[in-house]
Amino acid sequence: MKDRNGREINYLRLSVTDRCNLRCIYCMPESGVPLIDHADILSVEEVVRVVRIISDTVGLSKVRITGGEPLVRRGVLQIIKGISRIGIEEITLTTNGLLLRQMSKQLAEAGIQRVNISLDSLRDHRLKKITRRNISLHDIEKAIQAAFDAGLKPVRINCVLMRGVNDDEIPEFLEWGNSTGVTVRFIEHMPSSLNQSIFVSRDEIIEHASLSGTVRRQEDDGGTAGIYTVGNGVYTFGIIAPFSDPMCKTCNRIRLSARGTLVPCLASAEEVSIREPVRNGADDESISRLVHQLVINKPDSHGGCVSAEMWKIGG
Ligand code: SAM
Ligand code: SF4
Repeated sequence: MKDRNGREINYLRLSVTDRCNLRCIYCMPESGVPLIDHADILSVEEVVRVVRIISDTVGLSKVRITGGEPLVRRGVLQIIKGISRIGIEEITLTTNGLLLRQMSKQLAEAGIQRVNISLDSLRDHRLKKITRRNISLHDIEKAIQAAFDAGLKPVRINCVLMRGVNDDEIPEFLEWGNSTGVTVRFIEHMPSSLNQSIFVSRDEIIEHASLSGTVRRQEDDGGTAGIYTVGNGVYTFGIIAPFSDPMCKTCNRIRLSARGTLVPCLASAEEVSIREPVRNGADDESISRLVHQLVINKPDSHGGCVSAEMWKIGG
């Protein structure tokens, strides 16, 4: 269905948990997120039902499973299987990759078609600093290989850029992406507990990438990222720039949090709790009306007022 601005809303980002096995400095507090009762999280059956109603209401063509870290959610495979049965064209996953090695095959069997993996540095000491956990590039390379082996292709890498932390690695990332067979997408940092001076803009990203050759923007593919090539197409990369290049005019997404809150826009205060009506016995039709109302009134743009608690709404 279309919202009041004529945008076709057909993409749901589904957060299946608030919890995570990493503590990335731009995302979560070091102590983790406040533990909430399991009872406050939508059950597998509730998630699948709500996604089916959203799909019947708006006509979903894509669902991305995210979190927190989606692979730590007990029942994530059942959720994916349930969503597959609804008949949604494309089901994808965003993960930090730590559990991908052991789960890729099951994820593919459950219905995941491709994965995005977060990786913010190619240097182990930096990875440890950024994630506050003992992970290495080798772990992520194994995860990528497992995804390839399971047929989860193409693999995209999400890299949040931070000044003085990892912004000197752009040429290295291009080289590594090329040799590994993945596309790297650089992401502008959204406000977090870090000092905003770490923000690296799209233009600065392009400037860094120019060290590897002339950068040219390609035609948009309708996704969130601007697509660029370097040096006559030797490298391809993406930039997700919610500030320098907000894609609000073509935004086709809504979000459902693990607690059952439907969120129409990153900046929006107009969230609606679907969990309460679901638990109070509402029928499909009345839940559908809520979804319809929220989608129709999706805000025109986030207007730069993004306060990121990405672990809550899935990035
Ligand atoms: N745990 C999974 C992961 O890290 O891929 C999925 C959830 S995570 C919240 C989804 C995406 O949001 C990741 O690519 C992460 O880098 C991004 N993200 C989190 N906080 C961010 C911030 N402050 N600015 C920009 N991107 C952020
Ligand atoms: Fe966890 Fe992903 Fe947030 Fe990192 S970005 S703390 S992996 S939810």
